Amino acid sequence: MPVIAPRVASEYVVQPRHETDPAYAALIRCFQQPAGTVAVPRVLLLAAHPDDESIGAGGMLPRLAESVQVVHVTDGAPRHRRQWGRNEFADWDGYAGQRRREVLRALEVAGVPAESCRALGVMDNEVSHNLVALTHRLRELVEELRPDVILTHPYEGGHTDHDAVAFCTRAARTLLARAGGPAPAIAEFTSYHNLGGEKVVNRFLPFDGAPETEIVLTAEEKARKRRMYDCFPSQGNALRDMPIRVERFRPAPRYDFTAAPHAGRLRYERYPLGIRGAQWRRMAAEALAALGLPRDADPPRAPLVPRM
Ligand SMILES: [Zn+2]
Repeated sequence: MPVIAPRVASEYVVQPRHETDPAYAALIRCFQQPAGTVAVPRVLLLAAHPDDESIGAGGMLPRLAESVQVVHVTDGAPRHRRQWGRNEFADWDGYAGQRRREVLRALEVAGVPAESCRALGVMDNEVSHNLVALTHRLRELVEELRPDVILTHPYEGGHTDHDAVAFCTRAARTLLARAGGPAPAIAEFTSYHNLGGEKVVNRFLPFDGAPETEIVLTAEEKARKRRMYDCFPSQGNALRDMPIRVERFRPAPRYDFTAAPHAGRLRYERYPLGIRGAQWRRMAAEALAALGLPRDADPPRAPLVPRM
């Protein structure tokens, strides 16, 4: 007996209106229009390591120079000496100090003054062990700085510190919003992740409902970003090999941090001494419980237009 499919086609379905946070829209306008022609939102750039800001948003930083506060969560110096870049430092303080000097030089190239750059001093590679404390610290920072937008890492399994900063940013914002405090938009810059066994840089792990904006850098912006990269000799060629043609941004999606960001092996699982994904997700679940937050920390809003 023939089966007649019901006539339900996508054009007959009323989609919920896509909402864009006005502060996020203002950030993207500032990136898309010629520099100096539109209002610049107050931005808190939260980076796990002292160089992530240059990789993810170095080309756009000069546009934000007057209004941005850059905060590095770690000092860039892991506990194990063999992870200290070129290994030429006598002690941990020496390497951490070098990383701080390098990032301040790069930010100076971007026009961001040293007084707009803070460091929280968590040990590199260990942010995931400090999820609750860092969430509270970020909450205080947002209350103090009152940014319109927080620009930070995506959750993508590239580095445990990146994922931890993504987690704490979202958790801090949710706690603030609950208490009636400031609730800035959260935007993301690209970092790196693993997909299909390959390291992917300069691109997001795709996430439905988080439309990306691609900004093609001008010749001048590319040259400046290259000069910023040159400020990090302790990182050898790691930055010099990074692409500089485009930068990508998107509004932070609604993540479930207790689920893996993608199937297969995560980038940080390639390192024998590091945290495994399952362990990271257990720590995230414990932190959510300790903070009194649900798994899905930012529940979806009801659609503005009823679905048919
Ligand atoms: Zn990093």
